[in-house]
Amino acid sequence: MNILETVSVQCPSCGEVMELQVDCSEGSQELTEDCPVCCKPSTIAITISDKGISSVEILP
Ligand SMILES: [Zn+2]
Repeated sequence: MNILETVSVQCPSCGEVMELQVDCSEGSQELTEDCPVCCKPSTIAITISDKGISSVEILP
């Protein structure tokens, strides 16, 4: 598996799709990203398995 994976997440406020780089070596993680369009922060929960990213979920 790649250490760095790119995931696409959709902004829950405006629908913009953002691409994030995830460091799989850090394990499951939560990231907070500001949307480049509407500037609202989104919290993204990323679950990492031994095969890479297993789920990407935007937290409300
Ligand atoms: Zn947005």
